[in-house]
Amino acid sequence: MTDSAQGPLSEFDIIARYFTPSVPAGMVGVGDDCAIIPVRPGYQLAVSTDTLIQERHFYGHTPADLVGHKALAVNLSDLAAMGARPRACLLSLSLPRVDEQWLQDFSAGFHQLCTDSGCVLIGGDTTRSNHGIIITVTVLGEVPVAQALLRNRAQPDDDIWLTGHLGAPYVALQLLGQHWPANPDLLKLALPRLQRPIPPYHWAPELLGHAHAAIDISDGLIQDLQHILGRSEFGAQIECAKLPQHSVLQHLDEAQRYEALLAGGDEFELCFTASPKSRAYILDSAAKAEVAVHRVGKITLAPELQIYGFDGQRLVDEQRFISASGFDHFAQ
Ligand code: ADP
Ligand code: MG
Repeated sequence: MTDSAQGPLSEFDIIARYFTPSVPAGMVGVGDDCAIIPVRPGYQLAVSTDTLIQERHFYGHTPADLVGHKALAVNLSDLAAMGARPRACLLSLSLPRVDEQWLQDFSAGFHQLCTDSGCVLIGGDTTRSNHGIIITVTVLGEVPVAQALLRNRAQPDDDIWLTGHLGAPYVALQLLGQHWPANPDLLKLALPRLQRPIPPYHWAPELLGHAHAAIDISDGLIQDLQHILGRSEFGAQIECAKLPQHSVLQHLDEAQRYEALLAGGDEFELCFTASPKSRAYILDSAAKAEVAVHRVGKITLAPELQIYGFDGQRLVDEQRFISASGFDHFAQ
């Protein structure tokens, strides 16, 4: 292996030094043309991929260990939204230059979450980029055949549930983007939820057989819920008074609070639907797993989305939050 004192690390040095974890018996990991993962009888693989681009999905000054954490976390969130258990991941990294400190920290954050989640790094690609850092992670999870939580499975009268507490990533993004006046104290409270999301990947498989439809909240509750409604062809009522608020929201005015709760992205929490018969199971199972869950509304036969404000009345400007499409990278 080339030492940094003898010149910059090669592509193969980088892979060997930072991205070659050991893998469990029966798997083939980094170092061959393909990785191999055994799949247990009766299970299917759920597969998803997400890209993080510097200055688009993360700021260049973000500590690299947190970038490594988030690159995997956003993908684990997609597995959780299917009720799939993490098994393995692939990491494609495009870097403008070799920065060993950055690689050291990035890989430490990435590997820590691999270990915590049981998601083994089994391969990837390492290339040079012309501009900023581009990170693409692909995850593979296992789910019992035909039991995945699909977006089109919501049923009328289902409860709508949320994990976690909403709003902090929105606050952090408003402050970092200088859309709000600088407020270091507020940023300090909100930033950890933006930089270090922990989706409920451990608990999500417990929802199989109980939850009907699920989605993870990446673009905002109302946008993401509408994907379930569109696919299931039903409507919903959401009660803002029941939405679990992150403590940082107590520092906002009412209009900002609605915005953070209903339209705030980057949450990586789960929104799922389940029959009212499953309430006791969900509360009990979530409590055992130390996951916060709240019932925030219900699915309706009428294909309309109604939002009720903190005062229990229909939100006057609810249409502002409701639109046909989610976040669009190519929107002007
Ligand atoms: P190939 O020539 O087939 O593209 P590479 O030389 O790119 O293979 O990669 C060699 C091995 O290292 C492969 O097993 C590949 O999956 C793995 N690999 C490359 N980059 C990474 C990375 N960033 N993280 C994990 N594994 C990687
Ligand atoms: Mg390659």
